[in-house]
Amino acid sequence: MLNQLSAFELIEGIGDKKFSSVEVAEAFVEQVEKRDADVNAFLRFDPSYVLDQAKAFDQKHSSNTAFGSLSGIPVAVKDVICVKGQVTSCASKMLEHFVSPYDATLIEKIKRADGILLGTTNMDEFAMGSSNENSAFSRTKNPWDTDRVPGGSSGGAAACVAAGMAPLSLGSDTGGSVRQPAAFCGVTGLKPTYGRISRYGLVAFASSLDQIGILAGDARDVALLLNESTGHDPKDSTSSPTDPADYMATLHGDVSGLKIGIPKEYLGEGLDPEIAESVRQARQTLEEMGVEFTEISLPMTSYGVATYYLVASCEASGNLARYDGAHYGFRTEKNVDAAENRLLEMYRQTRSEGFGAEVKRRIMLGTYALSSGYYDAYYLKALKTRRLIQDELNAAFKQVDLILGPTTPTPAFKLGEKKKDPLSMYLGDIYTVVANLAGIPAISFPSGFTQSGLPIGLQLQGPSFSEELILRTTCSFQKNTDWHTKKPAMVTGAAK
Ligand code: GLN
Repeated sequence: MLNQLSAFELIEGIGDKKFSSVEVAEAFVEQVEKRDADVNAFLRFDPSYVLDQAKAFDQKHSSNTAFGSLSGIPVAVKDVICVKGQVTSCASKMLEHFVSPYDATLIEKIKRADGILLGTTNMDEFAMGSSNENSAFSRTKNPWDTDRVPGGSSGGAAACVAAGMAPLSLGSDTGGSVRQPAAFCGVTGLKPTYGRISRYGLVAFASSLDQIGILAGDARDVALLLNESTGHDPKDSTSSPTDPADYMATLHGDVSGLKIGIPKEYLGEGLDPEIAESVRQARQTLEEMGVEFTEISLPMTSYGVATYYLVASCEASGNLARYDGAHYGFRTEKNVDAAENRLLEMYRQTRSEGFGAEVKRRIMLGTYALSSGYYDAYYLKALKTRRLIQDELNAAFKQVDLILGPTTPTPAFKLGEKKKDPLSMYLGDIYTVVANLAGIPAISFPSGFTQSGLPIGLQLQGPSFSEELILRTTCSFQKNTDWHTKKPAMVTGAAK
């Protein structure tokens, strides 16, 4: 059952030659072959590609050549991060046949650290969505209940970890896309500080908010991959020059005396009572470990969703303008020769056919909000509100070290339940968007289950570059609880 071990345990086992990278790869390939027909976490998965990399690592290992710290263990890649020679489609018809000519910096780093690339995971088209239902290609299901969504947009990334198909997985988080699916699928997911991980090779959605994140079974595994992921990248001017820490070295430190705030606005209307109860229980667990809690107030929370959807859509309308049928990707096959303005008609047809409904909705919303006459009323106002949200958080971090709350107002919802009601889908992002607007790091970790057996996730947010503290606190919580060790029946073998 190698696919049930953590990344940390797999690295130890490979290091001690208890098993090989090929055996590890085979275990995950087998689970994907057995279960992914039900889950649909992967858009592209080629067993021979995985096994070839594992064989190459084993050869290196057996010849006593020095090797990187990921030691031949697999990492799944969200379909928004470029891998050289492979399709990076962003789950969009627009990029269905786009083969990336280069590796994202993070992919280069993973290869250098001797990680193995496992396959490409499904997502909402261009990372816009919270359920994976906006993928142009397939519907990913929640491994805990296949009638439910895995969350989004990194739904495939979370589902593959929950289903025992990958020990480590890369996602992207613009407004909660790593943390919300992590909560829905019962795994741990970190959105680092804006600029902590290079975004060179991450397809842009909203450039002032986008950040690559990591999903894994627990905080230790997240720290392990984060250690290989950080650092300034000359190819990404927004990547931070701040020295990265050794997140593994500080993981086991003490948390007593730590001050955590719970904003009263996070426990208000709309929050599922079982999730509210889970916050109270987590507080108690952490208190027993010496953490001090205070109630704080973040009244700007209620403006987060409106602010986020304006800022993100405005930036998306610019970023997605490049998909015009002329540069790369999809181009309409319709004959536009008869049109008065053929070029314009080609653009129009290409974009009408290439983008899905949600992406079009965002482009239209963003273009409208940026147009003259509306710019001040919408975009500029959103930027001002964003600043107030940032100021409020900065003030809170003078009072407390970290902020605890729910990751989502509800557990995973049913497939189709919110598809026709975008507003209710957007409102589910209330707790996650704030961290992106402020650029701060935040993690979602498993904190229990609903009576109906669905995972609950809680979120810890901290000041910029406090990943060390966030991971240490999550790790301490995980040493004192076993929620993160629970696995769905399709992993433990209880399911047929
Ligand atoms: N659910 C949010 C949205 O639809 C967040 C997406 C993301 O973080 N990529 O925009």
